[in-house]
Amino acid sequence: MSESQYKGYWMVTNRCNLRCHYCVLENAHHQLKQELDLEGKKELVTHLYQLGFRRLTLSGGEVTLIGKSPPRDFLELIRHIRTFRSSDPTKNLEIELYTNGAFFDEKVAEAVKGVVDQIAVTIDSNEDNLLSELGRNTRKFPHYYEHILRVCQLISQNGIELKLHSVIGTKTHASLPGQVASILDALEDSGARIGVWKFYQYMSYDVPERDHVHAIPKETYMQFKEKVQKELQGRPLRLHFKDNEEMNDSLFNILSYGNAQYMRKQDSWSTSQRTEDLRTYSSMGDLFAKHDIDESLFRRFHELKR
Ligand code: SF4
Repeated sequence: MSESQYKGYWMVTNRCNLRCHYCVLENAHHQLKQELDLEGKKELVTHLYQLGFRRLTLSGGEVTLIGKSPPRDFLELIRHIRTFRSSDPTKNLEIELYTNGAFFDEKVAEAVKGVVDQIAVTIDSNEDNLLSELGRNTRKFPHYYEHILRVCQLISQNGIELKLHSVIGTKTHASLPGQVASILDALEDSGARIGVWKFYQYMSYDVPERDHVHAIPKETYMQFKEKVQKELQGRPLRLHFKDNEEMNDSLFNILSYGNAQYMRKQDSWSTSQRTEDLRTYSSMGDLFAKHDIDESLFRRFHELKR
């Protein structure tokens, strides 16, 4: 029987240049200091590969920001990951990258070519006022939407598949359905081709003040889904609506410290569990034996079906 292969979501760093209001990051000074350094990150990639991971999503924070002189360490990490690329799909390490595009230029695009298969960017709105309210527009990066359109163009020019993300909460559920078609048109006009658009229901991080501002009930999210499906009917892209239930069931976040966060059925964000550093487990069987991770749920969301 062939060995199981997995996909993993890795929050490479909690460092970010933006302060989106709906986001939760462990970015206090002492937490950032505990993050794996570049050598640790490279060792983690090697170990995850040995555990059977063949697809990693590099997320953050903003991944291109790691190290003291960005994007140097990020480019070094990419060079390391390149050594796990193979024309044999069972040996190849597929990579998805999430970025807010702030440091994504020609040099970075050139470096990730042939290593990164897909890049995801977030577009919650095409309105500057709302983006400022959400924290996507900042004093230093005042026009997120315009900037991300250029980044999308660059991604597509370099032959990398593009994915869109949107976070659906009180501030976006009513306005975004009316904007999705024109956002897609603007991207396509600039030469970008979008494979998937994923809409996340805002997830609670057990911070009542923040939940009060962003959380929407399931029915509102389902109404949003219907409207978007109607608006984008016949457009050549896949739509993925990820509600809170799917987010909780699939949660296995490899953290910037090298360990992983997971949820049991009864957990919320604040009671979620953490493993040891993943480099200390000899196999996935060893990991499952030492923690009460629901293995069948893990396999449902993280095992690669070839
Ligand atoms: S860009 Fe992403 S990681 Fe950074 S604050 Fe916004 S949501 Fe969080």
